[in-house]
Amino acid sequence: MSVINFDFRNQVIKHNASLSYCYQCSTCSGGCPVALLTNGEYNPRKIIEEAILGLQDKLIEVQDPNPWLCSTCQKCVELCPQKVELTEIFTLIKNKCFEEGKYPEAFHAQGQAVLENGIAIPYSKAVLSRREKLGLPIITTAPIEEIKTLLRQTNFEQNIIKREAE
Ligand code: SF4
Ligand code: SF4
Repeated sequence: MSVINFDFRNQVIKHNASLSYCYQCSTCSGGCPVALLTNGEYNPRKIIEEAILGLQDKLIEVQDPNPWLCSTCQKCVELCPQKVELTEIFTLIKNKCFEEGKYPEAFHAQGQAVLENGIAIPYSKAVLSRREKLGLPIITTAPIEEIKTLLRQTNFEQNIIKREAE
């Protein structure tokens, strides 16, 4: 049975007060392409309901519905009659999942790539040489050390290392 955690709910509302305007009409779920493709298994209304009720374990531990399935297309935000900022709220929930090391393996691999290369998907030598042959401009990324400093100061690096140790 899920436990109501008022502190958690208040944290979400403090981050984004629009959560409290939701009256559970389901317009968001009705227009969501991921809900359509998953036959309703993914359901943005339900994530918002769990946030309103402060069901931290459902949102962070069990992840039912899985917030990582959201494609951030913003259709639900455009459709919501109450102007609930769903994707902003989902970002907070995903950040909390990340802090607990509960995020998809593919994102972990991307996080490692950012730490090592400064970008999530490094260019292959073949792509770089083809670009050169085509006369395309040389690609430059931001200095890796600066990126690493930012990632350390936002706890990104520590969270990646923590997950690897688990
Ligand atoms: S459309 Fe807006 S008000 Fe309706 S359930 Fe979704 S978030 Fe709540
Ligand atoms: S932003 Fe996410 S929840 Fe909203 S409609 Fe798009 S996929 Fe669905």
